[in-house]
Amino acid sequence: MSEMSFKKDASFDKCPKCKAVGKLRRSRAQTPWERIVKKIGISNYYRCRECGWRGKRLNFTFGKSSLKVIVLYLALMLATAVIVRFIVQIIALK
Ligand SMILES: [Zn+2]
Repeated sequence: MSEMSFKKDASFDKCPKCKAVGKLRRSRAQTPWERIVKKIGISNYYRCRECGWRGKRLNFTFGKSSLKVIVLYLALMLATAVIVRFIVQIIALK
């Protein structure tokens, strides 16, 4: 995989827990927050078929040149999180 590659599929990643390669399978979102994270496209949820680990893996790999993109993305994520929380609070109050 080249350093400049942007979109990646974590299915071929190592499991963070048992280090098995190629055992991660996409997992369905189980909470509204996970659904939002998936929709935005930042990360997907995976489950390890080897040890049962479940967690989120980033959809992107970043080269050193794309620091600006990361900062922008983090700002966007933060803004989205604040807005979503705000909306959820309004809905919950009704
Ligand atoms: Zn594992």
